[in-house]
Amino acid sequence: MKAASSPSHFYQPEAVAKGLYINGHWKGASSGKTINLLDPSTEGVIAKIADADEQDAAAALDAAAKAAPGWAATTPRKRGEILRRCFELMTERAEDLAWLISLENGKALRDARGEVAYAAEFFRWNAEEAVRIQGQLLTAPSGTNRIIVDYQPIGICVLITPWNFPAAMATRKIGPALAAGCTVILKPATETPLTAYALADLYTEAGVPPGVVNVLTTSKPGPVISSLLADPRVRKLSFTGSTPVGRTLLAEAAKTVISSSMELGGNAPLIVFDDADIDQALEGTMIAKMRNAGQACTAANRIYVQSGIYDKFTAKLEARMSAMVVGPGTSQETECGPMISAKARDKLERLVENAISLGAKLRCGGAKPNRAGFYYPPTVLVDVPIMAEMNWEEIFGPVAAISKFETEDEVIAKANDTEYGLAAYIFTKDTTRGFRVARQIESGMIALNRGLVSDPAAPFGGVKQSGLGREGGTHGIYEFLESKYIATSI
Ligand code: NAP
Repeated sequence: MKAASSPSHFYQPEAVAKGLYINGHWKGASSGKTINLLDPSTEGVIAKIADADEQDAAAALDAAAKAAPGWAATTPRKRGEILRRCFELMTERAEDLAWLISLENGKALRDARGEVAYAAEFFRWNAEEAVRIQGQLLTAPSGTNRIIVDYQPIGICVLITPWNFPAAMATRKIGPALAAGCTVILKPATETPLTAYALADLYTEAGVPPGVVNVLTTSKPGPVISSLLADPRVRKLSFTGSTPVGRTLLAEAAKTVISSSMELGGNAPLIVFDDADIDQALEGTMIAKMRNAGQACTAANRIYVQSGIYDKFTAKLEARMSAMVVGPGTSQETECGPMISAKARDKLERLVENAISLGAKLRCGGAKPNRAGFYYPPTVLVDVPIMAEMNWEEIFGPVAAISKFETEDEVIAKANDTEYGLAAYIFTKDTTRGFRVARQIESGMIALNRGLVSDPAAPFGGVKQSGLGREGGTHGIYEFLESKYIATSI
């Protein structure tokens, strides 16, 4: 397979893994410990990453606290200009950053390129939002006084991100936090720290002062994050990751009553009605299912196809899925890279075996290849019974789980039969029906005749156990602001 053009030496793993990023400097972990970072495409070690403990976390918090008053006092215009520069630098280095993401995460280069563009947009969008923070001036109903509502930075933020979008999940938090005037400590996923560290240097180059963004990796996220949340100087926790870890962190944040935003897991239904444009539905399903090899919180987890179109649609999807090129993320031809870990790959094996044992029919894929790397092939299962485990938990891989439905009411009930409520997809040419179904689906985001829902200009987030709060759009910055009400008689 043809490897991507060689990235600049700047973004080679050994050049990026310089230690923890605290107060604008690189330093080793105080314990001297490191963590081996594995390449999911080969299982080889690609770098050694600093392993922070509570002492390092305290140093990052001191730096964020020291930088906080100065950054909050920086004019919105200046903050906006620095964020705009972050966008420009990311865009200039898009190809190198995409290579780094593909290397550490395993996702196909075309997906990594898409992620860099999406991630950079959070800087451009929030550069524009920094100067549009809207307060309010109201007259009290009694007419005796005025109500002024002012917005101030919420304070020091702890940001925790997952491995599946190493750039975008970080910039979706750092962009609005910095625009609002907050300083931050970012803890990226241990499996994908290089992108977060590469971006740390880029922020400094763009003019972000020392201490405003601090980045640390650790093999002990529980105690290290608890030590931060126990400190009264921390006022915000913004987490993206799984629902079980989100629940634990919410309980932890409750002890010091820290404002919490939670972007958690999903179990997206994708519904194809008989009257859908079949090619549009197919294209949308491929994107909704296969972006990042299915490792997305918004990934189509349960695909419901109406009986009149079922055989035709499943045959076409099988043809598309079985033709996909599987290989290392950094190869130009790859369409489906490896899973992030052996654990993630083995979970797919378990879910597929469970569905088949309950009556699902395997159309393609379904067998772990005999090669190094955490690969699992694009797989199509039809007639997946409702009891199959994959209907109830996130598949998080290239497995399309399809079942048949007859009526609109039946599919709405099935779609809502989950504790999650992040994204849903509807394909129909009848727009009245599309909106009617969209209103009844319990999820924070709906894609109507589209396979992609994420947009920095739109509020991203879930209902039910998929989360609390929204990122992006005009809502995102308010997660990092606190309102202050001033009563005045003027
Ligand atoms: P995860 O296991 O929950 O980990 C997410 C982050 O939390 C990582 O940085 C992890 O660190 C850290 N963490 C784990 N245990 C912790 C603890 N006790 N205290 C503090 N931090 C802790 O999730 P993941 O496997 O990385 O990511 C996949 C999940 O994220 C899926 O459920 C997916 O749906 C969800 N997700 C949601 C969205 C959204 O916007 N709603 C977007 C992307 C992904 P380590 O890496 O060191 O374990």
